[in-house]
Amino acid sequence: MDRIELNSLTFDELEDFIVSINEDRYRADQLFTFFHKNYGKAIKDLTVFPIRLRDKLDGMGKVNNIEIFKRLDSNIDNTKKYLYLLEDDNIVESVFMEYKHGLTACISTQVGCKMGCYFCASTKDGFVRNLSPAEMLNQVYVMEEDLNNKITNIVLMGSGEPLDNYENVLKFLEIIHHERGHNLSYRNITLSTCGIVPNIYKLAEEGIPITLSISLHSPFDEERRRIMPIGNKYSVSEILQACRYYYEKINRRITIEYTLIEGVNDREEDLLELTKILKGIKCHVNLIPLNPIKEFDYNRPSQLGIKKFKKGLNNKSIPATIRREMGGDINASCGQLRRRYSKDKR
Ligand code: SF4
Repeated sequence: MDRIELNSLTFDELEDFIVSINEDRYRADQLFTFFHKNYGKAIKDLTVFPIRLRDKLDGMGKVNNIEIFKRLDSNIDNTKKYLYLLEDDNIVESVFMEYKHGLTACISTQVGCKMGCYFCASTKDGFVRNLSPAEMLNQVYVMEEDLNNKITNIVLMGSGEPLDNYENVLKFLEIIHHERGHNLSYRNITLSTCGIVPNIYKLAEEGIPITLSISLHSPFDEERRRIMPIGNKYSVSEILQACRYYYEKINRRITIEYTLIEGVNDREEDLLELTKILKGIKCHVNLIPLNPIKEFDYNRPSQLGIKKFKKGLNNKSIPATIRREMGGDINASCGQLRRRYSKDKR
């Protein structure tokens, strides 16, 4: 029988587990705090438990741990890129960024990704597997321990499509938010998706007030399909309909991610169509100048072009900002580092 991953269990699941093995319910509270507040890594360190109980838990359960494989520090700002080694020797990336409003961790939800967006390095070696809740939590906890500081904001925007690992991501959110653990406000969490429409509706029904961020990248279906295969499954209008629903249910403004690619989605007609389709949607557009990768031979527009696009949106009363580039000197785009070091390791 597989041993249960104890630090992937929600508070309620942990209570059920403890009760099911005929132990006192309050032990679940202690165990949860040990993992999610005190960075506990091994049952043997849980010295408030009698040895008998530690041995019992060790026999029935396991604790997932990840370690820092490499850290790259920016000399420009305080951005740090982490490569983590997982227990099965896979590698995932996370990024730490320091903003005025707080300390942000951008974390991965899958090893690789099956979505195939052409401009993204995370998908180039395909999909490997989903991350467990503990593997997502540990990206935050290990970063906090390393920095000796508390993360205040989390973005699920690293490798992987969070809504393609729905159950584990939901558990991650519940655990990191729980008052007996990290106690992070849902409002400080952003989930970025390429637009898996049924799961956007599902997420809206959960009623948890996280920010939904949509990787749109083109207002035209045909163009979007060319850079994002998911466009073959769900149209732009279906995605925006789901966004309206999300806003109605959750009452949080949607973020629209728009990677600016020269000659592909920065034309006058793109701007016009974008302003048309976003009209009436409570949203904010985050313009991201393309970070070129070898396999996608396109450039970002000029600085002037980027500013013009932003102004065009603002002129139509659509709030838009240009994403500030963090860690410009360690600026391998998401997924590139993992690919390089996974290969080195092999
Ligand atoms: S952009 Fe996101 S959804 Fe698309 S391939 Fe990359 S990780 Fe996957």
